[in-house]
Amino acid sequence: MKKTLGYAAHNHNTPLVPFSFERRDPMATDVRIEILFCGVCHSDIHQVRNEWGSSVFPMVPGHEIVGKVTQVGSEVSNFKLGDTVGVGCLVDSCKACPDCNDNLEQFCDNAVFTYNSPDKHTGGSNYGGYSRQIVVNQDFVLHVSDKLDPAAVAPLLCAGITTYSPLRHWKVGKGDKVGIVGLGGLGHMGIKFAHAFGAHVVLFTTTPGKAEDAKRLGADEVVISKNADEMQQHLASFDFILNTVAAPHNLDNYTALLKRDGTLCLLGVPDHPHPSPAVGNLIFKRRRIVGSLIGGLKETQEMLDFCAENAITSDVEIIPIQQINEAYERVLKSDVKYRFVIDLASLK
Ligand SMILES: [Zn+2]
Ligand SMILES: [Zn+2]
Repeated sequence: MKKTLGYAAHNHNTPLVPFSFERRDPMATDVRIEILFCGVCHSDIHQVRNEWGSSVFPMVPGHEIVGKVTQVGSEVSNFKLGDTVGVGCLVDSCKACPDCNDNLEQFCDNAVFTYNSPDKHTGGSNYGGYSRQIVVNQDFVLHVSDKLDPAAVAPLLCAGITTYSPLRHWKVGKGDKVGIVGLGGLGHMGIKFAHAFGAHVVLFTTTPGKAEDAKRLGADEVVISKNADEMQQHLASFDFILNTVAAPHNLDNYTALLKRDGTLCLLGVPDHPHPSPAVGNLIFKRRRIVGSLIGGLKETQEMLDFCAENAITSDVEIIPIQQINEAYERVLKSDVKYRFVIDLASLK
């Protein structure tokens, strides 16, 4: 075991504070990673505040991890010392079920998430990326190109793959009209990917001030979703809409904008349910409402490689870890463009 430092929540209603704990020694198939940067995901805040009711404390959050390999187990062949690597939301799975066999480990019933999941090796709950180092099975470690800024890569490990995967799965490409609902950590990546795949991209936002930035990120049009006239102009015209908003809202406003056989994909989990969608809206044009969850390891690597080839990263604001509690308050006010990333060199 090796001592390391992190930042932890000890309770659902107290700030994160410095926390000393131990990481396991690498087993034959493990990689030890010195963490350089870790993104701040909105779900970190849900978990720290026990808003999903499953939090175990103390909790070290963080699942958008980029770092350098500092030690490898005897059977690790895919990584060497000094490699730049990433770790996302998953650190293990059963590797035997139909989901794992299809490279969709995120749906495995025995998937182990990067923090607040049972730790098979040390007992208790595992600890995430708001820390100096982590030890992870090599199958759940990803290669990161040195062509990309490592701080701006970190959010790709959750916000990136969460938007990339559904756009790929539902085959968004040239000639498609694609909507992105909400311009935050997920939304800004959704715009970048949909644009890179050749789609005509429309951002839906409630904030007129975001229009200019959306266009800089790759949106072709911006629609103010509170403006019924503007929404009407887009009736039955979209092939695909990626909805990143987690707050409960009326989904009919978006299903009505889909073409026949169009798809509305939900990425956010609301703490109270959305109002029930109108069935008529769905059946008259065979429209679909679907959901999507991060992505498997194979696809996450494919996404990182695509980003390296196309120079795509997240827009980030780098903070020292001492500002994490303040950063949480700003995330809740959408006051970040578009992801906070912790510089772990600040943690001494
Ligand atoms: Zn996340
Ligand atoms: Zn499995």
